[in-house]
Amino acid sequence: MTLPAIDLPRSVHVFVRDWLSANHVLLKGGDGPVLVDTGYDSHKALTQALVEGPRGLAGTRLAKIVNTHGHSDHVGGNALLSARHGCPIAFPAVEARAVDAWDERALLYGYADQRCDRFGVDERIEAGSTHRWGELAWRALAAPGHDMGALVYFNDEHRILIAGDALWQRGFGFVLPRALDPDALPATRATLDLLAALDVRFVIPGHGEPFDAVEPALEFAYARLASLEADDERVARYACKAIFSYKLLEVRRFPEADLERYLQSVGLYRDMNDRVLRMTPAALAAFVADDLVRAGAVRREGGDLVTALGTAG
Ligand SMILES: [Zn+2]
Repeated sequence: MTLPAIDLPRSVHVFVRDWLSANHVLLKGGDGPVLVDTGYDSHKALTQALVEGPRGLAGTRLAKIVNTHGHSDHVGGNALLSARHGCPIAFPAVEARAVDAWDERALLYGYADQRCDRFGVDERIEAGSTHRWGELAWRALAAPGHDMGALVYFNDEHRILIAGDALWQRGFGFVLPRALDPDALPATRATLDLLAALDVRFVIPGHGEPFDAVEPALEFAYARLASLEADDERVARYACKAIFSYKLLEVRRFPEADLERYLQSVGLYRDMNDRVLRMTPAALAAFVADDLVRAGAVRREGGDLVTALGTAG
């Protein structure tokens, strides 16, 4: 079986990254190239090389950086690239307050033991506004859920959706349990309903290859959401595993003997355990490690947990 080729306009270039760094979308032409999302801190040199390379800016200067939301894997190159190119950063208006105050809890940086160079917001993007980025017009739509301030960007002409973590080919980004944010799961459902009503032809997700099998992706996302809505503990377990698996992508290996103390020391795990899971610290550590090993995301090696997921860039 051959998969249908994704036929994005030539002015839209997607740098497909991995799970540590979200994809970058370079929108060329018009008043100058605009970059949507900039990857994770520890891979920002690679982000710069890709974006400035022959398939990217190729000697031209970036006119603007745009973000889908403020999570560390989408904004890690903001400070570096905006400084190098002297370009403004346009950011979802709802979340801009957290960036202005550098609220590491709201943005899930220190709170989730993730890093990000501080950047400033130069332009606030309101939901419902339309922007000419590169050669195309993009409508900003509120997409709360995984991140309550997130936006997605939709081009009506080609029916392309830059989805961030609101919709992937299989699922969407982790959501906080009701005990930590009662609005997150209902907002996730409302966002999926909004995306389902858009008649999207191509999705450029925050992670994974662009795809045009939009119906199956929505079906998968709705099924995942229904399973999360049924069980707040499942939401918390999934989030703990997703966030620790992400940490392992950054550090590559982690001594298993330190896991219990580590999970206790990071606010997000502590809150999820105190308010939802209510496991002993040792049981939480054993659950996270065992489940990630069982899922094939992690393997045990000489007392360490080692990521089994690639970060080829
Ligand atoms: Zn995210």
